Amino acid sequence: MLTLDFHPAGRHFLQIPGPSPVPDRILRAMSYPTIDHRGPEFGALGLRVLAGIKTIFQTEQPVVIYPASGTGAWEAALVNTLSPGDTVLMFETGHFATLWKKMAEALGLKPEFIGLPGTEGWRRGAQADMIEARLREDREHKIKAVCVVHNETSTGVTSNIAAVRRAIDAAGHPALLMVDSISGLASADYRHDEWGVDVTISGSQKGLMLPPGISFNAVSQKALAVSKTAKLPRAFWGWAEIIEMNATGYWPYTPNTNLLYGLAEALDMIQGEGLENVFARHQRLAAACRAAVTAWGLEVQCADPEVYSPVLTGVIVPEGFDADAIRKIIYENYDMSLGTGLGKVKGRMFRIGHLGEANDLTLMATLSGCEMGLTLAGVKLAGSGVAAAMQYLTSHPRGLQRK
Ligand code: PLP
Repeated sequence: MLTLDFHPAGRHFLQIPGPSPVPDRILRAMSYPTIDHRGPEFGALGLRVLAGIKTIFQTEQPVVIYPASGTGAWEAALVNTLSPGDTVLMFETGHFATLWKKMAEALGLKPEFIGLPGTEGWRRGAQADMIEARLREDREHKIKAVCVVHNETSTGVTSNIAAVRRAIDAAGHPALLMVDSISGLASADYRHDEWGVDVTISGSQKGLMLPPGISFNAVSQKALAVSKTAKLPRAFWGWAEIIEMNATGYWPYTPNTNLLYGLAEALDMIQGEGLENVFARHQRLAAACRAAVTAWGLEVQCADPEVYSPVLTGVIVPEGFDADAIRKIIYENYDMSLGTGLGKVKGRMFRIGHLGEANDLTLMATLSGCEMGLTLAGVKLAGSGVAAAMQYLTSHPRGLQRK
């Protein structure tokens, strides 16, 4: 089946919550010849993407672009701002929050991992009141940063970042606020400046519709000031040198030129549609997807309607079924990839991605593949999710949003 000459008819449906399908426009832009990264043309490209990406983070502050996956940008956020042995408060929202915590340990930090009992945090997101209570107890201000994942890609649950900011302020605590919006950015509303975030981490392969390979740190003035005295070792990740060279559109090392061509194109696409329209499109598709899951008689992983993810939907499979076996049936019959359950929820749920270039018809095809696959797997469905999603979309028409 997996021989290189196997080519099923039609296109593969890559419906995992990132990497998301890369639009043809972006693939074409990335196919331009690679240019001299110290030459004049490159400087213009650098300045263009560095200015453009700020509009997506909704910030006036510097955004550092790394030739690395999101994990690299996680590390960059920690090593630029913290010192060995520093305590960081991290909230257990799911698998990615857990991985970030493990990284903090590996770097010699002391993460305090708080959360709801069992896997409740994996269904409800970060709880600002718990963060506030912990910060109020920390009278000596040992906690140097609060770290939260904005859109938990392992569960399809978001966290209310503005509420976390209010919690830090209400506790009168000076900790930095660091937010992973690797899978939220450019799909779910995100406001680095307005929400008072000190470091926002993101990546290319989700809402920005690019292949994996670049990642970001949006950095507040407070984080920049702290980075001057922070003592964790850093070389490649160091902000100061990069930001200095970025002033003229260059990097201290070889940046990934072709991905930056792709980024310029993605920014044009997003700005052409309008950021608000991009967010509304994702919200509407996510609501239609949840309507389908409910009509099937299945449960959505996110248990709090206030924090449903617009990016992906986690679907809990009935007792006695293995979510990965269902995914395999869907892959083998319909050439569609869905996200596996990760960590504590492996086998219990699968994830449907509806991010990036997603539209009504890609969602409907995706849901059809899921419905047929669930039926083949022997799951007794309560009703047609496909019909419910169509009903939702036709009763909430938006047309094509042209600015
Ligand atoms: N954080 C979140 C929320 C993610 O979704 C991912 C990847 O899916 C990561 C971190 C890790 O990023 P990467 O796999 O690009 O290194």
